[in-house]
Amino acid sequence: MSQNTQFTPKLEAETPGVLQVDSLRHILVHPDLLGEIQKGVEDRLGAKAGEFLYSAGAYWASAIARRLKAASVIDEQELLLLFCSHATEMGWGRWQLEGFSADDKRLMIRVQHSPAAAAYGESDLPVCHLLAGAVSGLAELLLNMPCACNESSCAAQGGPDCLFVAQGQELAGGDGWEW
Ligand SMILES: [Zn+2]
Repeated sequence: MSQNTQFTPKLEAETPGVLQVDSLRHILVHPDLLGEIQKGVEDRLGAKAGEFLYSAGAYWASAIARRLKAASVIDEQELLLLFCSHATEMGWGRWQLEGFSADDKRLMIRVQHSPAAAAYGESDLPVCHLLAGAVSGLAELLLNMPCACNESSCAAQGGPDCLFVAQGQELAGGDGWEW
């Protein structure tokens, strides 16, 4: 799938110590910091650590996607391509849209060079909980229903990249889901 939509972040630093990208404050950190935080939380919370990172990722992605959506009139496919371009430009690995189907309620995104996997090192289990949460947040925004995202393979397990599959789950009674 081609990704024609380009996102070019505009870096500004008018105030010393305040880095802005497209008028929003950002910080630049080495991925090792992410790895240290993740391992520190795992040491204390065990498997629950992944849930915290996952929900942080969902918050992060849906906030960005809402901003991108508000900035221009675009359809779901364009929004996903724009988000993938944004995440790639911001250094979160190379995000590629593998597929989105509203009918099947499924979103698949592949990420090469995930900073989470690179920072974590080798693992028997997938480690990119932050990114998995981000893909779930994107799917929930587009499908307007709860979407669980599974990282079906992770570079930390020795694979070439990380594959995220989010699947929407209809709420009982078919009620809409308001953000
Ligand atoms: Zn991964």
